[in-house]
Amino acid sequence: MSIGAEKILRGQIIEHLKGIVSASGTVTREQLWDFDLDGTTHRLIDRSRGIRNPRDMQATLSIMSAPDGPYTDQDLDGSLFAYAYREGTVDGDNAKLRRAYELELPIILLRRLSPGVYVPICPVYVVEDDTEKRQFLIALDADLLNIAQPSSPTPLERKYVSQITKRRLHQPEFRARVLLAYKSRCAVCRLDHGRLLDAAHIIPDPDEDGTPTVDNGLSLCKIHHGAYDTALLGIDPNFRIHISPQLLGSNESPVIEYGFQQLNGGEIALPTRTADRPDTDRLSVRFERFQEAC
Ligand SMILES: [Zn+2]
Repeated sequence: MSIGAEKILRGQIIEHLKGIVSASGTVTREQLWDFDLDGTTHRLIDRSRGIRNPRDMQATLSIMSAPDGPYTDQDLDGSLFAYAYREGTVDGDNAKLRRAYELELPIILLRRLSPGVYVPICPVYVVEDDTEKRQFLIALDADLLNIAQPSSPTPLERKYVSQITKRRLHQPEFRARVLLAYKSRCAVCRLDHGRLLDAAHIIPDPDEDGTPTVDNGLSLCKIHHGAYDTALLGIDPNFRIHISPQLLGSNESPVIEYGFQQLNGGEIALPTRTADRPDTDRLSVRFERFQEAC
């Protein structure tokens, strides 16, 4: 395959993959193994290894990492994502990843959430091959391709890298975990269209307690997320829904009537696993803010 054709194919695969993830937050091993694009099957994952080097492509297509995996990949604050060489020589499996670096080809980073379930981060790019530390540095966004020295970013660049890591790695993983816990439904109205669902923070993330953990999250549709963030809707520590008096008085549209007024006093849908349920202390803090705003 020519480089031009390979670039186009990678772009198509990545766009199609993003479409799947916008609906469900995650992709399964089966979906990656039997990835259908216009009637042709592509393998986006290797049968047994954490790197996919298709025979008909010049470079690596996907790499896998898990926050608790055996490789020393890491996403340190302000540093670029490091992906350790595969075991063995500096070549072997690593040679095709080095080709992705040389040819500046976009690749897919598969973050493993649980066995057979992944959050794909793409496109990402290899921006440095560090033979001494036996690792590649990965830019999680094309905006980071212009850093002159990827292994030692300037203080300003570090700040930017941190923002990108949060937006491109931590937020998609948070959304994926929350959607899985709530079975891709809005906790307030039970809407189950993944493309309309967000993972809302109970305590917002600039706060110290605003961690991207499932017990600080709620699966909410876009409307109820917006209402929760603007104090038009509150959830008390007993998981009860409260609608702001501003919306209880008016009767402007069916959305107000069915999407808000009739839900007042009802209970949110909860994850099956107790550990995934919203932390009641955080709900309490957030509910006080709602009451103050009313
Ligand atoms: Zn909803």
